[in-house]
Amino acid sequence: MEVLRSASMSEISYEIRGPLLQLATQLERDGEDVIKLNIGDPAAFGVTAPEEVLAAARDAVGDAAAYSEAQGLPAAREAVVRDYERKGLRTLTPDDVYLGNGVSELTSMALQALLDPGDEVLIPAPDYPLWTAATALTGGRPVHYLCDEQAGWQPDLTDLTAKITDRTKAIVVINPNNPTGAVWPREVLEHIATLAGVHGLVVMADEIYDEILYDGVEHVPMATLAPDLVCLTFGGLSKRCRVPGFRAGWMAVSGPRGAAADYVAGLDTLATMRLCPNVVAQRAIPAALRGRPDVHRLTGPGGRLLEQRDRCWEMLTKIEGVSCVKPRGAFYAFPRLDPRVHGISDDARFAYELLEREKVLVVQGTGLGWPRHDHFRMVTLPPAGELDEAIGRLGRFLDRRLAL
Ligand code: PLP
Repeated sequence: MEVLRSASMSEISYEIRGPLLQLATQLERDGEDVIKLNIGDPAAFGVTAPEEVLAAARDAVGDAAAYSEAQGLPAAREAVVRDYERKGLRTLTPDDVYLGNGVSELTSMALQALLDPGDEVLIPAPDYPLWTAATALTGGRPVHYLCDEQAGWQPDLTDLTAKITDRTKAIVVINPNNPTGAVWPREVLEHIATLAGVHGLVVMADEIYDEILYDGVEHVPMATLAPDLVCLTFGGLSKRCRVPGFRAGWMAVSGPRGAAADYVAGLDTLATMRLCPNVVAQRAIPAALRGRPDVHRLTGPGGRLLEQRDRCWEMLTKIEGVSCVKPRGAFYAFPRLDPRVHGISDDARFAYELLEREKVLVVQGTGLGWPRHDHFRMVTLPPAGELDEAIGRLGRFLDRRLAL
């Protein structure tokens, strides 16, 4: 008997871990030295976690055998509330916080509780594809609003406005952005909040990179600009504490409680259905959120993440026909390959050939919701030597194309 996947599965893909990763794994098995720049996992590149966070998880094991409250341990939710207070979001209580097995799980919960078939969600393009896939899986319709490379990858507000319809239920803001590294300024966020208010949209603010900022740029939490809107803010330990394997994330619901009561009841039901998030990881959250985030040492002067961002950007932009908006946050670069220089018309083919010939794995831009075949994403996480090697191989690959 043939077993077919559901119709909704054929709507979605997740190219960051797509077929090219399988090929990369096969090449590694065959003894090739593959440089994998596809996944934003700092731990995999030796950007180690704070010792106190690891110690808190180690110490927690003995006490973490039982399920916790469905929303998560009160002490961990309290720590999340305090952390947002430090960032200027002062209206939360622990009841507003849902802990999850990473932001990934909470994204699905937030959308499942909101969407009916055909409801639309505005998602930035390029996107972090989880939002697009999770929307489609619930039967919703992802609608992409363009970000403008010429404007440092700020959202195109005219395009965004034009895409609001009477089916639009929510708008997703990813700030700092994956894949572009853009950090959206206050005025842009205020404009989005105004639009959301006028059209009655729920705001979903994925701010998982909010502590990973360069060059003194300011990050403004969306919820502080939208006190009158139902706003869900997403964060977690994966990036700021470099423990993505812990699967420790959270979602904080702010805004008018009365208006959100029915939706929140839906979230509560979904939270109970997954019983609870990983309890060992939850127990690390209070230790992780105590004091100033140590990741600032890595993103400030002399810090590893800053130096790698700089090195990556400088090396990429020296390659003929490659340009790149300098990332101001997160740890990705989203370079452009000038089609007139390299003649690339199929970015998936480009990524495939780069892997096959030079053993470097990147993600093609169209796999991240970008409508043209002229971009790719790479992480800026490898240490200097590995970055040099990877970008050197990319340069060699593109030079060979020039010679054709
Ligand atoms: N949101 C964004 C923008 C991300 O880049 C990622 C992971 O790369 C996630 C969410 C998922 O994070 P988590 O590890 O908390 O599931």
